[in-house]
Amino acid sequence: MGCVFCDIVNNKIKSEKIYEDEDVLAFKDVEPQAPVHFLVIPKKHIKSLNEVKEEDFKLIGKIFSAIQKIIKDLNIKKGFRVINNCGEDGGQTVEHIHFHILAKRKMSWPPG
Ligand code: AMP
Ligand code: ZN
Repeated sequence: MGCVFCDIVNNKIKSEKIYEDEDVLAFKDVEPQAPVHFLVIPKKHIKSLNEVKEEDFKLIGKIFSAIQKIIKDLNIKKGFRVINNCGEDGGQTVEHIHFHILAKRKMSWPPG
């Protein structure tokens, strides 16, 4: 089965990349829900948070390190939100683990 985010990693589908290293990619969400809205993914195909294995823990750590770098580069000083939608009730629509980063507006709580 095809995977949209693997296609983005392999440049088969265009995206607005904002960060890339050998393991991690970040690109703008096509349907932004905030003035800043990007997705951070591992290049490795992992279906969801529920499929993360112990051998992937270092990789997931690299995602959070990348988030810190990007937030610094974008000069975001007032905070941001990280969202991982997991599975059907979590609202996951793309089955390649990803973390949404939203910023530059005040977020509401609780989420819908
Ligand atoms: P989720 O609902 O958590 O699975 O989030 C999937 C996100 O991927 C949605 O916010 C979509 O707008 C976004 N998305 C889907 N296809 C693309 C694409 N080709 N480029 C960038 N973002 C995408
Ligand atoms: Zn994938």
